[in-house]
Amino acid sequence: MTYEVNETHDQNLKSWVESANDPDTDFPIQNLPYCCFVQSNNSQAERRTGVRIGDQILDLEKCRGFNLFETIAEDVRGIGFNKTINNITAGSSIKNQAVLRSRISQLLSSEIDSGTRTEVEKCLVPVSDVEIELPARIRDYTDFYCSIYHATNVGRLFRPDNPLLPNYKWIPIGYHGRASSVVTSGTDIKRPQGQNRSNAEIPPIYMPSKALDYEMEVGFFVGKGNELGEPIDIKDAEDHIVGLCLMNDWSARDFQGWEYQPLGPFLAKSFATSVSPFVVTMEALAPFRVPAFERDEGDPQPLAYLADEQNEKSGGIDIKLEVYIQTKKMREDGDEPYLVSRSNMKDLYWTIGQMLTHHASNGCNLQAGDLLATGTVSGKEDSERGCLLEMTKRGAEPFELPNGETRKFLEDHDEIIMKGICERQGFRRIGFGECRGMVLPAE
Ligand code: CA
Repeated sequence: MTYEVNETHDQNLKSWVESANDPDTDFPIQNLPYCCFVQSNNSQAERRTGVRIGDQILDLEKCRGFNLFETIAEDVRGIGFNKTINNITAGSSIKNQAVLRSRISQLLSSEIDSGTRTEVEKCLVPVSDVEIELPARIRDYTDFYCSIYHATNVGRLFRPDNPLLPNYKWIPIGYHGRASSVVTSGTDIKRPQGQNRSNAEIPPIYMPSKALDYEMEVGFFVGKGNELGEPIDIKDAEDHIVGLCLMNDWSARDFQGWEYQPLGPFLAKSFATSVSPFVVTMEALAPFRVPAFERDEGDPQPLAYLADEQNEKSGGIDIKLEVYIQTKKMREDGDEPYLVSRSNMKDLYWTIGQMLTHHASNGCNLQAGDLLATGTVSGKEDSERGCLLEMTKRGAEPFELPNGETRKFLEDHDEIIMKGICERQGFRRIGFGECRGMVLPAE
Protein backbone atom coordinates (compact mmCIF):
# COMPACT_ATOMS: atom_id res chain seq x y z
CA MET A 1 0.00 0.00 0.00
CA THR A 2 1.10 3.59 -0.54
CA TYR A 3 -0.29 6.63 1.14
CA GLU A 4 -2.40 8.95 -0.93
CA VAL A 5 -2.27 12.71 -0.68
CA ASN A 6 -5.31 13.69 1.42
CA GLU A 7 -6.81 16.52 3.45
CA THR A 8 -3.98 16.34 6.04
CA HIS A 9 -1.58 17.57 3.33
CA ASP A 10 -3.70 20.57 2.31
CA GLN A 11 -1.35 23.56 2.16
CA ASN A 12 -4.06 25.88 3.45
CA LEU A 13 -4.49 23.94 6.67
CA LYS A 14 -3.54 26.06 9.71
CA SER A 15 -3.08 25.14 13.33
CA TRP A 16 -4.19 26.98 16.45
CA VAL A 17 -0.65 26.27 17.69
CA GLU A 18 0.73 29.54 16.32
CA SER A 19 4.39 28.44 16.03
CA ALA A 20 3.25 25.76 13.56
CA ASN A 21 2.15 28.46 11.10
CA ASP A 22 5.59 30.11 10.97
CA PRO A 23 6.64 29.76 7.30
CA ASP A 24 10.15 28.73 8.43
CA THR A 25 9.15 25.94 10.79
CA ASP A 26 9.99 22.37 9.85
CA PHE A 27 6.94 21.23 11.79
CA PRO A 28 3.71 22.68 10.39
CA ILE A 29 0.43 20.79 10.80
CA GLN A 30 1.11 18.99 7.49
CA ASN A 31 4.16 17.22 9.01
CA LEU A 32 3.27 15.70 12.44
CA PRO A 33 6.37 13.54 13.03
CA TYR A 34 6.59 11.08 15.93
CA CYS A 35 9.14 11.43 18.70
CA CYS A 36 9.91 10.05 22.12
CA PHE A 37 10.28 12.37 25.11
CA VAL A 38 10.67 12.57 28.86
CA GLN A 39 9.73 15.53 31.10
CA SER A 40 13.05 17.18 32.04
CA ASN A 41 12.16 18.25 35.56
CA ASN A 42 10.56 15.01 36.72
CA SER A 43 12.80 12.08 37.60
CA GLN A 44 9.75 9.79 37.87
CA ALA A 45 8.55 10.70 34.39
CA GLU A 46 8.01 7.93 31.88
CA ARG A 47 9.11 7.93 28.30
CA ARG A 48 6.21 8.92 26.12
CA THR A 49 5.47 9.04 22.45
CA GLY A 50 4.56 12.43 21.06
CA VAL A 51 3.93 14.31 17.86
CA ARG A 52 5.87 17.47 17.12
CA ILE A 53 3.83 20.54 16.15
CA GLY A 54 5.63 23.89 15.84
CA ASP A 55 7.61 24.32 19.07
CA GLN A 56 5.33 21.95 21.02
CA ILE A 57 4.96 18.21 21.55
CA LEU A 58 1.54 16.58 21.66
CA ASP A 59 1.49 13.86 24.33
CA LEU A 60 -0.47 11.01 22.73
CA GLU A 61 -1.13 8.98 25.88
CA LYS A 62 -2.53 12.11 27.52
CA CYS A 63 -4.80 12.61 24.51
CA ARG A 64 -6.12 9.13 25.03
CA GLY A 65 -6.60 9.92 28.74
CA PHE A 66 -8.78 12.91 27.81
CA ASN A 67 -10.79 10.65 25.46
CA LEU A 68 -9.66 12.69 22.48
CA PHE A 69 -9.32 9.50 20.42
CA GLU A 70 -12.81 8.33 21.36
CA THR A 71 -14.13 8.89 17.81
CA ILE A 72 -11.49 6.52 16.45
CA ALA A 73 -11.31 4.19 19.46
CA GLU A 74 -11.65 1.07 17.35
CA ASP A 75 -8.69 2.04 15.18
CA VAL A 76 -6.27 3.00 17.95
CA ARG A 77 -7.04 0.05 20.20
CA GLY A 78 -3.79 -1.86 20.45
CA ILE A 79 -1.64 1.16 19.71
CA GLY A 80 0.71 1.81 22.61
CA PHE A 81 1.79 5.39 23.25
CA ASN A 82 4.15 4.66 26.10
CA LYS A 83 7.89 4.41 25.72
CA THR A 84 8.94 4.51 22.07
CA ILE A 85 7.49 4.37 18.56
CA ASN A 86 8.07 0.60 18.56
CA ASN A 87 4.68 0.34 20.31
CA ILE A 88 2.83 2.66 17.99
CA THR A 89 3.48 0.74 14.88
CA ALA A 90 4.16 -2.86 15.81
CA GLY A 91 0.58 -3.68 16.67
CA SER A 92 -1.28 -1.56 14.18
CA SER A 93 -2.06 -1.56 10.51
CA ILE A 94 -1.16 1.16 8.02
CA LYS A 95 -4.85 2.02 7.77
CA ASN A 96 -5.02 2.66 11.50
CA GLN A 97 -1.97 4.88 11.30
CA ALA A 98 -3.73 6.98 8.71
CA VAL A 99 -6.84 7.24 10.89
CA LEU A 100 -4.66 8.37 13.79
CA ARG A 101 -2.89 11.01 11.68
CA SER A 102 -6.19 12.33 10.41
CA ARG A 103 -7.52 12.66 13.98
CA ILE A 104 -4.34 14.38 15.25
CA SER A 105 -4.53 16.79 12.33
CA GLN A 106 -8.16 17.54 13.25
CA LEU A 107 -7.32 18.13 16.92
CA LEU A 108 -4.55 20.60 16.05
CA SER A 109 -6.43 22.35 13.25
CA SER A 110 -7.65 25.91 13.70
CA GLU A 111 -11.10 24.56 12.76
CA ILE A 112 -11.50 22.59 15.98
CA ASP A 113 -14.20 23.68 18.45
CA SER A 114 -13.03 25.63 21.49
CA GLY A 115 -14.11 22.97 24.02
CA THR A 116 -11.96 20.30 22.41
CA ARG A 117 -9.13 22.76 21.94
CA THR A 118 -9.03 23.44 25.69
CA GLU A 119 -8.58 19.71 26.28
CA VAL A 120 -5.86 19.38 23.61
CA GLU A 121 -3.99 22.34 25.15
CA LYS A 122 -3.56 20.26 28.30
CA CYS A 123 -1.80 17.60 26.22
CA LEU A 124 0.83 19.95 24.80
CA VAL A 125 4.26 20.42 26.27
CA PRO A 126 6.89 22.88 24.99
CA VAL A 127 9.88 21.20 23.31
CA SER A 128 12.10 23.27 25.60
CA ASP A 129 10.63 21.54 28.69
CA VAL A 130 11.41 17.97 27.64
CA GLU A 131 14.34 15.73 26.81
CA ILE A 132 13.92 14.40 23.30
CA GLU A 133 15.27 10.86 23.21
CA LEU A 134 15.93 8.28 20.51
CA PRO A 135 12.55 7.70 18.84
CA ALA A 136 12.75 3.92 18.88
CA ARG A 137 14.25 1.12 20.87
CA ILE A 138 16.69 0.11 18.18
CA ARG A 139 17.66 -3.51 18.41
CA ASP A 140 19.27 -3.81 15.00
CA TYR A 141 20.81 -1.28 12.67
CA THR A 142 21.74 -1.93 9.04
CA ASP A 143 23.46 0.51 6.72
CA PHE A 144 23.24 0.33 2.93
CA TYR A 145 25.39 1.89 0.21
CA CYS A 146 22.72 3.03 -2.22
CA SER A 147 24.11 6.19 -3.81
CA ILE A 148 25.74 5.20 -7.08
CA TYR A 149 27.52 8.57 -7.13
CA HIS A 150 28.98 7.99 -3.67
CA ALA A 151 29.96 4.41 -4.55
CA THR A 152 31.60 5.57 -7.77
CA ASN A 153 33.47 8.50 -6.16
CA VAL A 154 34.75 6.34 -3.30
CA GLY A 155 35.53 3.43 -5.61
CA ARG A 156 37.57 5.73 -7.84
CA LEU A 157 39.86 6.65 -4.92
CA PHE A 158 40.77 2.99 -4.49
CA ARG A 159 40.34 1.58 -8.03
CA PRO A 160 40.65 4.44 -10.54
CA ASP A 161 40.07 2.18 -13.58
CA ASN A 162 37.22 0.16 -12.16
CA PRO A 163 35.39 2.24 -9.54
CA LEU A 164 32.10 0.34 -9.38
CA LEU A 165 32.23 -3.33 -8.42
CA PRO A 166 30.23 -5.77 -10.62
CA ASN A 167 27.58 -6.51 -7.97
CA TYR A 168 26.52 -2.88 -7.48
CA LYS A 169 23.71 -2.66 -10.06
CA TRP A 170 22.25 -6.02 -9.09
CA ILE A 171 22.13 -5.98 -5.33
CA PRO A 172 21.58 -3.30 -2.66
CA ILE A 173 24.93 -3.47 -0.84
CA GLY A 174 24.81 -3.20 2.95
CA TYR A 175 26.38 -4.26 6.22
CA HIS A 176 25.15 -4.85 9.76
CA GLY A 177 25.94 -1.85 11.92
CA ARG A 178 25.96 -1.43 15.67
CA ALA A 179 22.66 -0.48 17.32
CA SER A 180 24.00 0.26 20.83
CA SER A 181 25.99 3.30 19.70
CA VAL A 182 23.17 5.02 17.82
CA VAL A 183 22.67 8.36 19.59
CA THR A 184 20.26 11.22 19.25
CA SER A 185 21.06 14.62 17.74
CA GLY A 186 23.07 16.84 20.08
CA THR A 187 25.10 14.03 21.62
CA ASP A 188 28.85 14.79 21.57
CA ILE A 189 31.04 12.36 19.65
CA LYS A 190 34.35 11.40 21.21
CA ARG A 191 37.12 10.94 18.65
CA PRO A 192 37.70 7.18 18.49
CA GLN A 193 41.03 5.40 18.86
CA GLY A 194 42.03 2.48 16.71
CA GLN A 195 44.62 0.91 14.44
CA ASN A 196 46.17 3.22 11.87
CA ARG A 197 48.39 1.72 9.18
CA SER A 198 49.10 4.73 7.03
CA ASN A 199 52.77 3.79 6.76
CA ALA A 200 53.15 0.36 5.19
CA GLU A 201 56.81 0.24 6.26
CA ILE A 202 56.01 -0.01 9.97
CA PRO A 203 53.45 -1.95 12.03
CA PRO A 204 50.05 -0.32 12.67
CA ILE A 205 49.80 2.18 15.54
CA TYR A 206 46.89 2.37 18.02
CA MET A 207 46.02 6.06 18.10
CA PRO A 208 43.19 8.63 17.87
CA SER A 209 41.71 8.75 14.37
CA LYS A 210 43.38 11.27 12.07
CA ALA A 211 40.69 10.96 9.41
CA LEU A 212 37.35 11.39 11.18
CA ASP A 213 34.48 11.94 8.75
CA TYR A 214 30.70 12.31 8.65
CA GLU A 215 28.29 10.66 6.21
CA MET A 216 25.03 12.40 5.24
CA GLU A 217 22.41 9.66 5.24
CA VAL A 218 18.70 9.09 5.62
CA GLY A 219 17.52 6.50 8.14
CA PHE A 220 14.18 4.69 8.19
CA PHE A 221 12.47 2.79 10.99
CA VAL A 222 10.75 -0.58 10.72
CA GLY A 223 7.19 -0.59 12.04
CA LYS A 224 5.59 -3.96 11.49
CA GLY A 225 8.18 -6.74 11.39
CA ASN A 226 8.20 -10.06 9.52
CA GLU A 227 8.40 -13.60 10.86
CA LEU A 228 11.71 -15.42 10.68
CA GLY A 229 11.84 -17.30 7.39
CA GLU A 230 9.15 -15.19 5.73
CA PRO A 231 10.42 -12.66 3.20
CA ILE A 232 8.59 -9.40 2.52
CA ASP A 233 7.02 -8.87 -0.89
CA ILE A 234 8.26 -5.70 -2.61
CA LYS A 235 4.60 -4.70 -3.02
CA ASP A 236 4.18 -4.66 0.77
CA ALA A 237 7.57 -3.16 1.62
CA GLU A 238 6.36 0.28 2.63
CA ASP A 239 3.72 -1.19 4.96
CA HIS A 240 6.67 -2.09 7.16
CA ILE A 241 8.21 1.39 7.31
CA VAL A 242 7.10 3.97 9.89
CA GLY A 243 9.03 6.95 8.65
CA LEU A 244 12.36 8.61 8.06
CA CYS A 245 15.01 10.57 9.95
CA LEU A 246 18.35 12.18 9.14
CA MET A 247 21.44 10.21 10.02
CA ASN A 248 25.16 10.89 10.40
CA ASP A 249 27.20 7.72 10.11
CA TRP A 250 30.45 8.95 11.70
CA SER A 251 33.40 7.17 10.10
CA ALA A 252 37.13 6.90 10.90
CA ARG A 253 38.61 6.57 7.41
CA ASP A 254 42.11 5.65 8.56
CA PHE A 255 40.82 2.68 10.58
CA GLN A 256 38.40 1.75 7.80
CA GLY A 257 41.12 1.57 5.15
CA TRP A 258 43.13 -0.87 7.24
CA GLU A 259 40.38 -3.08 8.71
CA TYR A 260 37.77 -3.38 5.95
CA GLN A 261 39.16 -6.30 3.97
CA PRO A 262 37.78 -8.90 3.68
CA LEU A 263 34.65 -8.46 5.84
CA GLY A 264 33.73 -4.77 5.53
CA PRO A 265 33.38 -1.94 8.04
CA PHE A 266 33.76 -2.74 11.73
CA LEU A 267 35.27 -0.40 14.38
CA ALA A 268 35.65 2.45 11.87
CA LYS A 269 31.88 2.94 12.12
CA SER A 270 30.62 1.38 15.35
CA PHE A 271 31.77 4.11 17.78
CA ALA A 272 28.79 6.40 17.01
CA THR A 273 25.88 7.05 14.66
CA SER A 274 23.70 10.14 15.17
CA VAL A 275 20.03 10.40 14.19
CA SER A 276 17.55 13.27 14.17
CA PRO A 277 14.83 12.43 16.71
CA PHE A 278 11.67 13.31 14.76
CA VAL A 279 10.35 10.49 12.59
CA VAL A 280 8.67 11.98 9.53
CA THR A 281 6.01 9.45 8.60
CA MET A 282 5.58 7.84 5.20
CA GLU A 283 2.16 9.47 5.01
CA ALA A 284 3.58 12.97 5.62
CA LEU A 285 5.98 12.30 2.75
CA ALA A 286 3.21 11.33 0.29
CA PRO A 287 3.32 14.64 -1.65
CA PHE A 288 7.07 14.32 -2.17
CA ARG A 289 7.22 10.91 -3.81
CA VAL A 290 9.01 10.67 -7.16
CA PRO A 291 9.86 7.84 -9.57
CA ALA A 292 12.67 5.45 -8.67
CA PHE A 293 16.14 6.29 -10.06
CA GLU A 294 16.23 6.25 -13.82
CA ARG A 295 18.78 3.61 -14.71
CA ASP A 296 21.14 4.00 -17.66
CA GLU A 297 20.10 2.16 -20.79
CA GLY A 298 22.78 -0.51 -20.42
CA ASP A 299 22.07 -1.15 -16.71
CA PRO A 300 20.39 -4.41 -15.67
CA GLN A 301 16.79 -4.23 -14.49
CA PRO A 302 16.22 -5.27 -10.86
CA LEU A 303 15.60 -9.01 -10.36
CA ALA A 304 11.91 -9.93 -10.04
CA TYR A 305 11.84 -9.90 -6.22
CA LEU A 306 13.04 -6.27 -6.28
CA ALA A 307 10.86 -5.13 -9.16
CA ASP A 308 7.44 -3.56 -8.80
CA GLU A 309 5.45 -1.12 -10.88
CA GLN A 310 4.44 1.06 -7.96
CA ASN A 311 8.03 1.17 -6.73
CA GLU A 312 9.14 2.18 -10.21
CA LYS A 313 6.51 4.91 -10.35
CA SER A 314 6.87 6.46 -6.88
CA GLY A 315 9.53 4.58 -4.89
CA GLY A 316 11.82 7.62 -4.67
CA ILE A 317 11.50 10.51 -2.21
CA ASP A 318 12.48 14.09 -2.95
CA ILE A 319 14.29 15.26 0.19
CA LYS A 320 16.82 18.07 -0.05
CA LEU A 321 19.72 17.33 2.27
CA GLU A 322 22.25 19.82 3.59
CA VAL A 323 25.43 19.46 5.62
CA TYR A 324 26.86 22.39 7.60
CA ILE A 325 30.06 22.70 9.61
CA GLN A 326 30.84 25.08 12.46
CA THR A 327 34.39 25.03 13.81
CA LYS A 328 35.44 26.17 17.27
CA LYS A 329 36.87 29.37 15.80
CA MET A 330 33.67 30.06 13.87
CA ARG A 331 31.65 29.63 17.05
CA GLU A 332 33.96 31.94 19.00
CA ASP A 333 33.85 34.57 16.25
CA GLY A 334 30.07 34.31 15.96
CA ASP A 335 30.24 33.00 12.37
CA GLU A 336 27.20 31.08 11.11
CA PRO A 337 27.62 27.40 10.22
CA TYR A 338 29.00 26.94 6.69
CA LEU A 339 27.11 24.93 4.06
CA VAL A 340 29.48 22.16 2.96
CA SER A 341 27.27 20.18 0.60
CA ARG A 342 23.76 19.69 -0.76
CA SER A 343 22.34 16.45 -2.08
CA ASN A 344 18.96 14.80 -2.62
CA MET A 345 17.55 11.46 -1.58
CA LYS A 346 15.83 11.03 -4.96
CA ASP A 347 19.29 10.36 -6.49
CA LEU A 348 19.65 6.98 -4.75
CA TYR A 349 20.08 3.98 -7.06
CA TRP A 350 17.85 1.77 -4.88
CA THR A 351 14.61 2.76 -3.12
CA ILE A 352 13.91 2.19 0.58
CA GLY A 353 11.31 -0.42 -0.46
CA GLN A 354 14.00 -2.33 -2.34
CA MET A 355 16.44 -2.05 0.57
CA LEU A 356 13.89 -3.42 3.03
CA THR A 357 12.73 -6.19 0.69
CA HIS A 358 16.28 -7.24 -0.03
CA HIS A 359 17.10 -7.27 3.69
CA ALA A 360 14.26 -9.71 4.41
CA SER A 361 14.62 -11.68 1.17
CA ASN A 362 16.64 -14.47 2.79
CA GLY A 363 14.07 -14.82 5.57
CA CYS A 364 15.85 -12.51 8.00
CA ASN A 365 13.27 -11.16 10.46
CA LEU A 366 13.06 -7.39 10.77
CA GLN A 367 11.59 -6.11 14.02
CA ALA A 368 9.73 -3.01 15.16
CA GLY A 369 12.24 -0.25 15.85
CA ASP A 370 14.99 -1.58 13.60
CA LEU A 371 16.93 1.21 11.94
CA LEU A 372 17.88 0.89 8.27
CA ALA A 373 19.83 3.59 6.46
CA THR A 374 20.56 4.52 2.87
CA GLY A 375 24.32 5.02 3.00
CA THR A 376 25.93 8.35 2.11
CA VAL A 377 23.64 10.34 -0.15
CA SER A 378 25.70 12.04 -2.87
CA GLY A 379 24.70 13.50 -6.23
CA LYS A 380 26.26 13.91 -9.62
CA GLU A 381 27.87 17.31 -8.96
CA ASP A 382 31.01 18.10 -6.97
CA SER A 383 28.91 20.19 -4.58
CA GLU A 384 26.74 17.16 -3.83
CA ARG A 385 29.29 14.94 -2.09
CA GLY A 386 27.88 13.69 1.20
CA CYS A 387 31.14 13.06 3.09
CA LEU A 388 34.66 14.50 3.35
CA LEU A 389 36.32 11.36 1.99
CA GLU A 390 34.67 12.13 -1.36
CA MET A 391 34.87 15.87 -1.10
CA THR A 392 38.57 16.17 -0.24
CA LYS A 393 39.55 13.04 -2.22
CA ARG A 394 40.69 11.24 0.92
CA GLY A 395 42.35 14.38 2.28
CA ALA A 396 44.36 15.14 -0.88
CA GLU A 397 42.35 18.29 -1.67
CA PRO A 398 41.43 20.14 1.53
CA PHE A 399 38.64 22.69 1.28
CA GLU A 400 38.72 26.20 2.62
CA LEU A 401 36.17 27.76 4.97
CA PRO A 402 35.18 31.44 4.61
CA ASN A 403 37.42 32.39 7.57
CA GLY A 404 40.50 30.83 5.94
CA GLU A 405 40.55 27.62 7.99
CA THR A 406 40.94 24.43 5.95
CA ARG A 407 39.66 20.90 6.48
CA LYS A 408 40.72 17.50 5.12
CA PHE A 409 38.82 15.69 7.83
CA LEU A 410 37.11 16.76 11.07
CA GLU A 411 39.04 18.42 13.87
CA ASP A 412 38.21 18.47 17.57
CA HIS A 413 35.28 20.77 18.46
CA ASP A 414 33.98 20.84 14.87
CA GLU A 415 30.20 20.54 14.87
CA ILE A 416 28.35 18.92 11.97
CA ILE A 417 24.73 19.93 11.40
CA MET A 418 22.52 18.09 8.91
CA LYS A 419 19.16 19.28 7.64
CA GLY A 420 16.47 17.80 5.42
CA ILE A 421 13.64 19.62 3.65
CA CYS A 422 10.74 18.59 1.40
CA GLU A 423 9.33 21.24 -0.92
CA ARG A 424 6.93 21.02 -3.81
CA GLN A 425 4.75 23.52 -5.62
CA GLY A 426 1.24 23.42 -4.19
CA PHE A 427 2.28 21.88 -0.87
CA ARG A 428 3.45 23.10 2.50
CA ARG A 429 7.19 22.72 3.03
CA ILE A 430 8.03 20.23 5.77
CA GLY A 431 11.39 19.47 7.38
CA PHE A 432 13.24 16.95 9.50
CA GLY A 433 14.73 19.30 12.10
CA GLU A 434 18.45 18.83 12.66
CA CYS A 435 20.94 16.06 13.19
CA ARG A 436 23.84 17.62 15.14
CA GLY A 437 27.00 16.31 16.69
CA MET A 438 30.23 17.86 17.94
CA VAL A 439 33.60 16.11 17.87
CA LEU A 440 35.33 15.96 21.25
CA PRO A 441 39.04 15.10 21.69
CA ALA A 442 40.08 11.50 22.28
CA GLU A 443 40.96 10.71 25.90
CA1 CA B 1 27.43 4.72 5.95
